[in-house]
Amino acid sequence: MYFRPELSWEFLSADEIEAKSVRALRNHIRHVKEVSPHYQETFFDVFPEDIKTPADVARLPFTNKKDVAADTPRFLGVAPQEIVETLLTGGATGSPLAIPLTASDIERLAFSQALSFQAAGVQSADKAQILVSQDRLAFAPMAYYRGMALLGANVARVGQLPLEQHKRFLDLLQPSVLVGAPSFLKMLLADLKKRGFDSSRSSVKKLFCCGESVRTQEMRLNGLGDILEKGFNAAVYSTYTATELCVAYCECSARSGGHAHPELVYTEIVDDTGNPVADGMPGELVATTLGCEGMPLVRYRTGDITFKMSATCACGRNSCRIGPILARKSQLIKVRGATLYPLSITSALDELQFLDDYVVVLEGTDPLSDTVTIHAVTAPTNIVGITNQLRTSAKVQFPVLVTNGRTLDALRGNTLLKTKIVDKRSHAQ
Ligand SMILES: [Zn+2]
Repeated sequence: MYFRPELSWEFLSADEIEAKSVRALRNHIRHVKEVSPHYQETFFDVFPEDIKTPADVARLPFTNKKDVAADTPRFLGVAPQEIVETLLTGGATGSPLAIPLTASDIERLAFSQALSFQAAGVQSADKAQILVSQDRLAFAPMAYYRGMALLGANVARVGQLPLEQHKRFLDLLQPSVLVGAPSFLKMLLADLKKRGFDSSRSSVKKLFCCGESVRTQEMRLNGLGDILEKGFNAAVYSTYTATELCVAYCECSARSGGHAHPELVYTEIVDDTGNPVADGMPGELVATTLGCEGMPLVRYRTGDITFKMSATCACGRNSCRIGPILARKSQLIKVRGATLYPLSITSALDELQFLDDYVVVLEGTDPLSDTVTIHAVTAPTNIVGITNQLRTSAKVQFPVLVTNGRTLDALRGNTLLKTKIVDKRSHAQ
């Protein structure tokens, strides 16, 4: 397989992208009605010809995670013998979903990821280390590996090792690119500094951050992103994906939002009632997976809250971009009736160098007023500093409890990620 970036539509005009997207949506609807029992049933009165403009997409019903979980085989788009790999979603909310991929889906995924890395300036001469665990049917590390390999970069699947071992691999391989979760990269940076890491002599020039937001709603680097950028003396890029979609939304060299690849995914942002919201307004990311074979989806509600930017990017691409994930929809916080995004709390806390680790615990039974407590691994004398930071940066006042790492892990439960939000609310979805 050769990497052919010229197949991307991103440098076409906005009008050309729109026209191609409408045609692609018509083809996609025709396809899912032929192959997917679920869509044969739910789209019995929907026809490809119904889609003449982007606004007509609103005529198509949404697909929810619950729909897929309830009867996954009815979403399959191919015969079982055509499936070559099965991935599991992260299971951040509810049970994980099994996502089947064909050989073509893997090529599509590699193309998506290679386009993303190339737009961010990665070249075949780069050496990349992927610092994300490769096991447990995980999607992201496979995508990063395939994308880097398709681009022709020299890619090392290092995964997550005991911190002291990473310095050895960094010294040995001299990577120019690291791909990892920001919290892990922050821990790695702290460990490297203890071992005499000198950022001015480091080979690392780019950091691709996945799984957590590194920007604020205003698109500035948040505390975590700032620590990484300054600490590694390397450019930070935000990248987002969801396993169900098998595509990447990744920042380009302009670092102003993750570009959608319009030939691979049709992107919408909708409000609670399912209506589109204006550019810059937060809403739920909804995606239609164009060209996906194993499990083609139409208007899939990701449950992730972000916002869209449709103007031409400084890089010249006309593909729309998405901002940082502000929250899981199920994790929106209500304080005396007002909505609060968890990202505003975590961004404020991530700026604190003296805060080793923390979780934000959500509790309560009233959907209009949640109880929020910060459980922090820090010295008791730092409580005032944490409280002040929350008040000035996030405009909130929540109690802070000092705890230890073992208690935090118990609060997080059996999760693979070092999640920062623990939701114990009885009304949580
Ligand atoms: Zn761009």
